[in-house]
Amino acid sequence: MTIVNADTRRSRSSAAPVSPDWKTRSVCRDELADDFYSTIKSRKERARALCVGCPVIVECLSNQRQSDDAIYRWGVGGGLDPEQRRALELEELLGNVPNLAMARVLVSPRWLWRLRQLKADCRSLEGMTAAFREDGLFVDEVTVRVAAWWSGGEGSRVARLAPGDKRTWRAQLQDDYADVVVALHELGARRVDIAAYLGIPGANGAKGVAAVLKAAAAGGLELAA
Ligand code: SF4
Repeated sequence: MTIVNADTRRSRSSAAPVSPDWKTRSVCRDELADDFYSTIKSRKERARALCVGCPVIVECLSNQRQSDDAIYRWGVGGGLDPEQRRALELEELLGNVPNLAMARVLVSPRWLWRLRQLKADCRSLEGMTAAFREDGLFVDEVTVRVAAWWSGGEGSRVARLAPGDKRTWRAQLQDDYADVVVALHELGARRVDIAAYLGIPGANGAKGVAAVLKAAAAGGLELAA
């Protein structure tokens, strides 16, 4: 991704300085790297599951967010796949910096059951975040999003539709997400990365983003001033 350089990313990140010896404590140091770089879904999921049990997942993901090393552009790392990491970079570009230590709390045995319950019951990150706050946890949406990813969920920004809401996800993009799509585009984000941010990765997501940008350019959408 080219929209932010390493210095910008370092200054934007709230991640604590990473101890240089963190890799010596990583779970994957003795594992075959194949699963971490596989394109097969089941193998990628196995790698992500290993990450979630890794004692240095916070340090690893922090390091990946602070590094421009090409190796961090590929494969599973820090419990996320590349699309999720690109989505996280756009979150940070919008000023949404996760509290990774708190995200780790949310996937601990004490809270994982609640996270899974909320993923099943709530229709949005917003709803999950509000419920956690009612539980007494001070969390924000991007922190919940990272925890949802770590727990194997999609953590999509585009909410599942409420009962009675018959809109398609394309209609949701135009109705509810046009402002952020245009803002990210103006910040230089690629369409495919905007789609990853929204949680609609792949070619369909990029096409949906392109349609929103086209409609906005034609003046066919009402955007916030
Ligand atoms: S979080 Fe995953 S990629 Fe990072 S050190 Fe741990 S096992 Fe390896």
